[in-house]
Amino acid sequence: MKDNHAIKNPLEQYPQPPFSKQPQPVPGLASKMDPVPDHGEKTYVGSNRLLGRKALITGGDSGIGRAAAIAYAREGADVVINYLPQEQSDADEVIALIEAAGRKGYGIAGDITSKTFCDELVKQASEKLGGLDILVNNAGHQQAVESLLDITDEQFDATMKTNIYAPFWITKAALPILPAGSVIIATSSVQAYDPSENLFDYAQTKAANVAFVKSLAKQLGPKGIRVNGVAPGPVWTPLQTSGGQPQDAITEFGKKTPLGRPGQPAELASIYVQLADPQASYANGQIYGAAGGSGHP
Ligand code: NAD
Ligand code: MG
Repeated sequence: MKDNHAIKNPLEQYPQPPFSKQPQPVPGLASKMDPVPDHGEKTYVGSNRLLGRKALITGGDSGIGRAAAIAYAREGADVVINYLPQEQSDADEVIALIEAAGRKGYGIAGDITSKTFCDELVKQASEKLGGLDILVNNAGHQQAVESLLDITDEQFDATMKTNIYAPFWITKAALPILPAGSVIIATSSVQAYDPSENLFDYAQTKAANVAFVKSLAKQLGPKGIRVNGVAPGPVWTPLQTSGGQPQDAITEFGKKTPLGRPGQPAELASIYVQLADPQASYANGQIYGAAGGSGHP
């Protein structure tokens, strides 16, 4: 990890399209992707920016949440990750990496489309960590469908429940135990600002995530709790390869950005660290873009 801070050309870093078609059933495993995403396993170097903090990250088994989990642990935080039971093998790798960083790492599997489970998740997470002061609502459901006529009620419901209800339920359960100085971080998307025609339901939820941040930041600022979000562009994760994009779009994924490639989860980790860091104490109600040069905000 020695040359981690050396100057690097972002055009020469990380895999470029074309990629192979690689369908997986939802929710997909990072370990089965080709190439396997880079979550910072070999590169992220911490400097105690989150020493002693207690973080719950939903969707922490893979993708952006996994990159945040690895970075948080290397910055000195203890971390609980939540994921679906089908993702246990990805989650096990993350927990091992958190422990290798010398921190406590716990996995709590379960489906956040259930309010009962969301309540239980927060309760168990705070018991394991001895409290909670970083909440990252990152889990997401995304399935591309060409026509609104083909979006089933089941899909619409799953997208809304995962991306809107779950952050509401989890945040509501966590709020009474979050001390002043805590942070809440949402993962929105460029889809909130420039929705694709085939992500009609998903894009609406990502816009809702922005409103979640903007409203709650005003409500909780006076309590000393900061609320911010990240709006990624195309990032190489199982969300995308397991139906988030049609397979034809996977082959060219990220090509249209000014960097000509998708982001890797590792490239977003430092943003999640920054938003949780007490040194960023005036960051509240902000959405940080991470889209490789195009997109919003
Ligand atoms: P990912 O598949 O690695 O992570 C999403 C996670 O959500 C899964 O690992 C899974 O554990 C979790 N999840 C989904 N449904 C769940 C449920 N019902 N119960 C519990 N957990 C559930 O993909 P990712 O791209 O890292 O996604 C993380 C976030 O980033 C999502 O909110 C997504 O909307 C957002 N995002 C991703 C991209 C991208 O290009 N990858 C772009 C913009 C925004
Ligand atoms: Mg996953």
